This record gives sequence, C-alpha cells and structure tokens, in this order.
Amino acid sequence: MSLRITQLNLPVHHGPDALQRKVLSVLRIRREDLLSLEIIRRSVDARKKDQILFSYTVDAAVREEQTVLRRCRNPHVSAASEKTYRAPESGTEPLLHRPVIIGTGPAGLFAGLLLARKGYRPLLLERGLPAGKRKISVERFWKEGRLDPESNVSFGEGGAGTFSDGKLNTLVKDDSGRNREVLKTFVAFGAPPDILWQHLPHVGTDLLIDIVGGIRREIERLGGEVCFETRAEHLLTKDGKLCCIEVTDLKGPEPGSAGGEVGRLRKIPCEVLIAAPGHSARDTFEHFLSDGVVMEPKSFAVGVRIQHPQHMIDVSQYGEKEADFLSPAVYKLAAKSGGRGVYTFCMCPGGYVVNASSEPGRTAVNGMSCHDRASGNANSAVIVTVTPEDFGAEGPLSGIAFQRALEERAYDAADGKIPVQLFGDFCAGRVSSGYGGVRPCFCGETSFADLNPVLGPEISAALKEGISGFDKKIRGFARADAILAGVESRTSSPVRIPRDLEFLSNISGLYPCGEGAGYAGGITSAAMDGLKCAEAVICRYAAPAR
Ligand SMILES: Cc1cc2nc3c(=O)[nH]c(=O)nc-3n(C[C@H](O)[C@H](O)[C@H](O)COP(=O)(O)OP(=O)(O)OC[C@H]3O[C@@H](n4cnc5c(N)ncnc54)[C@H](O)[C@@H]3O)c2cc1C
Repeated sequence: MSLRITQLNLPVHHGPDALQRKVLSVLRIRREDLLSLEIIRRSVDARKKDQILFSYTVDAAVREEQTVLRRCRNPHVSAASEKTYRAPESGTEPLLHRPVIIGTGPAGLFAGLLLARKGYRPLLLERGLPAGKRKISVERFWKEGRLDPESNVSFGEGGAGTFSDGKLNTLVKDDSGRNREVLKTFVAFGAPPDILWQHLPHVGTDLLIDIVGGIRREIERLGGEVCFETRAEHLLTKDGKLCCIEVTDLKGPEPGSAGGEVGRLRKIPCEVLIAAPGHSARDTFEHFLSDGVVMEPKSFAVGVRIQHPQHMIDVSQYGEKEADFLSPAVYKLAAKSGGRGVYTFCMCPGGYVVNASSEPGRTAVNGMSCHDRASGNANSAVIVTVTPEDFGAEGPLSGIAFQRALEERAYDAADGKIPVQLFGDFCAGRVSSGYGGVRPCFCGETSFADLNPVLGPEISAALKEGISGFDKKIRGFARADAILAGVESRTSSPVRIPRDLEFLSNISGLYPCGEGAGYAGGITSAAMDGLKCAEAVICRYAAPAR
C-alpha cells in the first residue's frame, strides 16, 4: 500500500528533484522515510499562459503510512487504491471447439490475448494482411491509388488503430483496472512506458505496427492461431444457437503446400464467436443481418478533416513562451449549429491526413501520426452529428447507405483522390487554385474540389458556422487558408448489435464486440471491450480440451 497524492503542481521547467522535494513537503516526512515514488498521471495546466504548470498525481510508499496520512491532514492525500486487473476464473460449461474471434483490431487482439493466456487457444480470423505486409499495401495505395479492399487503413492486423495517431486516452469509466491493463500490455509489447502516466498517452503508427505483431505472436505462442486473409462471411445456427462460421480464404496456397484455393468457402465449427469486425465491415453487417442477428441504426457524425500549422495551435494553447517547449498541443472544440452538435474529433498533433478508404469508388479520410508527431501540421476531424432521422431509418443499415453515398460523392468530386479545399473557398463555394500559408500534410493523392455538393447544404452550413465559431477559441482556426479534406465519414459505427448482460446477442454464442458492434469509440475502449467479452466467455465456459 502507498499514499496517493493529487494536484502536485510544479513549473514546467522544474528540476529533476523538485517532485520528490514537493512530496516530502506535502507529506511532512524526511527523505529516508520515502521508500518509493511512482508517477501515476501528469497533465499540463495551461490556464494561466504566463505560469504553465505540470500537475502530477503520484503514489508514494512511505514508512508508517497511517501515521503520515493522519499527520499531514491534506485533502489531496489518501490511501492509494489502484485496482489491479484480475481475469475471472474459468466456468464449467464444456466447449467442443475453441472460441473464434473475428478481427485483429484492438478488440479482437485483446480478447484473443486474454483467452490465450487462460488456455482457450482462440482462433482469430483476419481478412487483411499481417501488419508488415499491410504497410506495403497501404503505402502503395497512397502512392499509386490502387486500393486493396481487404488490406488498407481500416482492414488488416491491428485493425483501424494501426495506421493512426495511437491516442490511448478513453472516457470509459474503469473501476476494474482494465484501462491500466491495456496500457501495461501496450508497454509490454514495445510502447513507451510514459503512456502509463501521460494524461493524453499516444503511441504513433510507426511503433504500433511492431506492437500489434508482438501481441499476435504472443497469442500464437500460447496456443492460439491467427488466420490472415480469411474473411468471415455467414453465421450458421442450429436451434437458435451458433454452430459454424463460414469463411472465405482470400489467399492462395503457400508455396509447396497443398490446398488453400483462393475464394474457397469453408465452414469452421464453433459455438462461441466474438465478433469484432470494426465499423467499416459493411459486408459483414449485411451478412449478419441476413443471418438473423438483431441490429439497430445508430447516430454518428460526418464532416471533414482540417489542417493548420501545429505552431499556431501550440501558441494558442501554451502562449509564445512555452509553445516550443511543450509542443505539440492538442485541442477539443464543440459548438451548436441549428440544433446540431458540431465538434472536433480525433485530433492528431503533428500528423497527416490520410486516405482511409476501404471500398472501391468511395473516399474516406482520417488522421494519423508517427510517435514523434513532427509533421509540422495539426489536423482534426470537424464533424456534425447525423441521426436516423437524417438518413431515414429504413432498416438497421440505413446509416451505412448514407455513409456510402457521401463517400461516393467525395470519390467522384476528385476522381478517386482526396478532395481538398481551403476554408475560405469552401465558404465562397469555389474550387481552390492553390495552397496558402498552410503546408499540406497528406498521405494519399489529392485534388482540389468543391466540398459543398459532396457534404450537402445542411452539413456544409453547420461546418462553416462551427469552424468560424472555433476561431474565438483558437485564433486562426477559421483562417482562409486552413486546408479541408473530405470526407470524414467513419467516426463511429452506424449500427449497434444489442447484447444482454452476458454480452450475448440474440443468437446464442455470438458476442458482438468493439467499435463495430457499437460498444467502443477508440483504441483503448475497444481493447477494454475485447477484455470484457473474453471475460464473459471465460466465466461461462471451461477451456476446451486439446
Ligand atoms: C486512421 C485512423 C486513426 C485513428 N486514430 C485513433 C486514435 O488515435 N486513437 C483512438 O483511440 N482511436 C483511433 N482511431 C479509431 C480506432 O482505430 C478504432 O476505434 C479501433 O481500432 C476500433 O477497434 P475494433 O477492434 O473494434 O475494430 P477495428 O480496429 O476496426 O478492427 C476490426 C478488424 O476486423 C477485421 N475484419 C473486418 N471484417 C472482417 C471479416 N468479415 N472477417 C475477418 N476480419 C474482419 C478488419 O480487417 C480489422 O482488422 C483511428 C481510426 C483510424 C481509421
């Protein structure tokens, strides 16, 4: 046990011993009575630009802890009660087959890792390529415009989180220690240890590619199996219970091996399936719906990516004096326009706007960065909420139809490249003829186009009002040469697959999981949901015999 001390504020340029000295003074103890000191959280307090502070939360192990706690009488000192994550004990119901997981995004990988650690030898199905090979297909798409619909920024090992900024913060309440367990796992597989205490932890694409490969190898070492280029198709049931998953083999035979015909359909028997296909697996949702899975349409948000010089954001958030020292800064802005919420989302400091399309003839953008966040630009989605009333709730997949139509208009507007427009030209309704003072940072080919007809009048008007209003919070946000790119259409899942208290859908044995099923919104929350679904399986079933 140790003492938790919150709100330890120090100037950002504090020396190496300053934190320890502050702890000794708050606890009113001598140096030799402090046994250890661990930083739990550090955030930047930039409310006063002339006096920016680091605000720490620490755990201090001390001699005679109860006496120290009583004596220091400080409301910011308490007994530390960090909840350590504990996986549940295995249940008793027998499993004939090993559990199957669709997807190796954060949800599928973390579900797979936990099941493998508990001896369930899961089988993971992934339509895309392993991360190293996936990088090649993604970079070829960005360079030559040739999209691989099975292996791209959305699909492949690590899921949508691999080619990302790798922000790991989440708003999900965590009283079980799952959040810290996810962060510790990332560190164990190569993420920088500071993600355990940074207020806004971030990894970056360059590191994530190796990290997700490391997690997969650990699943395999523990007896699990990962089948790449294997796309889950239909669910087969018997008496309302899952009995098989039908899959398509997308790859040819390994040199020198028999079998493995491309496009071959085969059935994998299973009575437990964790389905974590992410929010871009539109074909999978279509199949599941036709297989009788209950799903419902869900609100989401659409809009554009906006780019500014990172230095402009740093100066706005930290002031001129500390802008370079504390760079790169983040922001989060929200407004109302005509009854709709307009807000920034998934901000990528020092990042790139990427072509994140996954379907031929449709264009979607997103943001990513490397660990150093050094592109020189800040980008963020600026998005407007759309509800089933906007896209017509004609069936559970009407949100997908709305997204597709938007992405088709974006594709057509720029001949398959990313459609780009400066904010001033967006407001004036004219196609831009060149860039201004904001240097573009894109991964993927671009072409100037008018985004107004792509987005439609209502969303365009809300974005113009929102972006103009954000200029009051960050000076220069609405500058005429801010670069917009369209369309940001995959901000969250357009469907939800309801699940009961045991995490089961209406089909017995099917565990909807992660962002695609509507239970997560980001890497960490998806990984935590993967843990929850795996725990539900573990609680009920005994590990299958070998
Ligand atoms: C460019 C980009 C940047 C992002 N940046 C961040 C960020 O910085 N921080 C953050 O928290 N979130 C970020 N996100 C969102 C985050 O990536 C997702 O919230 C998260 O990955 C969802 O995890 P998931 O496991 O539920 O699904 P996904 O990560 O989408 O994984 C689903 C997996 O299932 C596979 N799959 C789909 N259908 C099938 C099928 N039929 N058969 C077999 N396999 C299938 C896919 O190939 C994929 O690998 C970003 C997303 C993108 C696209």
